[in-house]
Amino acid sequence: MLPYGRQSIDQSDVEAVVAALGSDWLTTGPRVAQFEADIEAVAGAPAVTVTNGTTALHTAYAAAGVTTGDEVVTTPMTFVATASAASLLGAKIVFADIEDETANIDPAAVEAAVTPRTKAIGAVDYAGHPADYDALRKVAEGVGAVLIGDAAHSIGSTVHGRPVGSLADLTTFSFFPTKNMTTAEGGAVASIRPDLLQRARTFRTIGVVREDLRHPDEGAWFYEVHEFGNNYRLPDVLCALGSSQLKRLAAFKARRQQLTARYDELLAGVPGLRLPIQREGVDPLRHLYPVRVLDGRRREVFERMRAAGIGVQVNYIPVYWHPVFTDLGYRRGMCPVAETFYAEQLSLPLFVDLSDADQDRVVETLHTILGS
Ligand SMILES: *Cc1c(COP(=O)(O)O)cnc(C)c1O
Repeated sequence: MLPYGRQSIDQSDVEAVVAALGSDWLTTGPRVAQFEADIEAVAGAPAVTVTNGTTALHTAYAAAGVTTGDEVVTTPMTFVATASAASLLGAKIVFADIEDETANIDPAAVEAAVTPRTKAIGAVDYAGHPADYDALRKVAEGVGAVLIGDAAHSIGSTVHGRPVGSLADLTTFSFFPTKNMTTAEGGAVASIRPDLLQRARTFRTIGVVREDLRHPDEGAWFYEVHEFGNNYRLPDVLCALGSSQLKRLAAFKARRQQLTARYDELLAGVPGLRLPIQREGVDPLRHLYPVRVLDGRRREVFERMRAAGIGVQVNYIPVYWHPVFTDLGYRRGMCPVAETFYAEQLSLPLFVDLSDADQDRVVETLHTILGS
């Protein structure tokens, strides 16, 4: 089965990991700080590494101060973790509908959803196309909320030359194998605000602090915990892979853009198919190639593509359809644009080592099914 996404690992990646394994530090060593500096160079803001994209979201919401009784406004068109990581901190999730064109959270819907209790607004850069952070920032500032970008899809993307990582107050990344780059499991939180980044760092290190101690004269061994945290440290072995992958990110971007342009060209004009768009000023590192299958044929196309050995995917089930949310009273129909998008959405295979020949087979199979 041709997968919809997969990692690209070369000899340089293997050598970087082997070198880390032979070093003095398997975790909490120099490769962690190195990877964090390498992320900053791409993201345009300092970063803290964590164990995955889900714990990155948990860390970012905690750093934003999200707690019981707060509201967090986010998109339903995402992986469940974008919302559930805030639920774990006791927040009430308020879903705002998406834009039809980009499937990103709609700033007008966010404006209508915020209240004085809104602590954070969580956007997602769907498929690698950045959300409209300038509009979202205005709404966030209006209610004093922290703006969070879930950039699990979009490391390496820019808007008018500004990198993802510098657009929101806090930005989270995932380095799962299907994403734009990988550390097997891994993630990071970047922030343009030093206070928020420090809180993120403390949260991912069990809440341990060595400055501003209540009892500063105890001795050099002394540390304190002022707020609960978790051990979300990413080991040196995986940070080594991350730094190596970041060296290849420009090449990853070029190949994904090339494959995207080929899909755009080869699928143009296919009846019953809507292709993704790109806004002016956006230079995306495309994580997904999401098409829309019209006329109620998405399920048929999904099943026939899978039967032909092509691992298409659906991204995503509206988050509030999950029983963990319906049990809390969330109902289908809440975000109609997202539900229509879901009903039509299909992700075609897109990864760095996808060959032109395999991509041609995807395109031909789609042409055959849709009768064009
Ligand atoms: C993958 C993903 C996550 C979770 O990342 P993990 O590293 O798998 O925990 C969160 N949000 C979005 C949008 C994702 O695609």
